[in-house]
Amino acid sequence: MRFVLEESRVVFDVHPRVTAWFSTRLGGMSMAPFDTLNLSYGVGDIPSVVTENRRRILASAERDLEDLVMPHQVHGNHIEWVTDAWRGRGATGSQPIPATDGFLTESPQVVLGLGFADCVPIFLTDRKARFVGLLHAGWRGTAAEIGLQAIRLLRERGIAPGDLLVGIGPSIGPCCYEVDEPVRRAIRQVVGDGPLAAKDPEHWWLDLAGANRLMFERAGVPAEQILESHFCTGCRRDLFFSYRMEGRRTGRMGGYICLNPR
Ligand SMILES: [Zn+2]
Repeated sequence: MRFVLEESRVVFDVHPRVTAWFSTRLGGMSMAPFDTLNLSYGVGDIPSVVTENRRRILASAERDLEDLVMPHQVHGNHIEWVTDAWRGRGATGSQPIPATDGFLTESPQVVLGLGFADCVPIFLTDRKARFVGLLHAGWRGTAAEIGLQAIRLLRERGIAPGDLLVGIGPSIGPCCYEVDEPVRRAIRQVVGDGPLAAKDPEHWWLDLAGANRLMFERAGVPAEQILESHFCTGCRRDLFFSYRMEGRRTGRMGGYICLNPR
């Protein structure tokens, strides 16, 4: 397993039957402040330009926009199993899957996609590539244990935590992510103090990727089967958009994963 930075994307190289990638801000058509590979229709960018950007990021993996499925994300822990019937939903903004922050699928016909600014993208598959999954874990999703919810759903299909391969992609690092007491309390309740470092009496630095790693490890995923990219979206504004660092009027990235057609 490894993360590889290519021109317009970071690839999570995990299994020969799986393609997983995360967009950078490079290689798109959008003008400032969305320059250049903004993948969100919801930030004020020109819709036709966003569609072209989405087409390009799918084409980087030799997939079509029609294969993509995207939800309306709400920072919750609801996860859906995606079937072929949903192919294309949310791909160009219309008919997204409602109120969902995680997808799992066993179908090679669909590409799972989620939008990200600084939140943690979590790529999932198992040693036999029986499925692929993608989760959106901000502090709320992490506190709601979205990773454990995925593990519960996978167990129901006979996939054990010990077989999982987990990639934790580009997201805001502990160097750039300052949180207050309510967020600290929410994170402590699920994984303890490990991912928190005191900055001053009222603020902490939070390692959100690390918090998710801990959750998977404690659920039985071997540490060597979990890989973090260690790209910080706050530090690397040459490569990524950052909601935290640039404010609301900036672009959004996308995370994608699919089983390769045989
Ligand atoms: Zn940073």
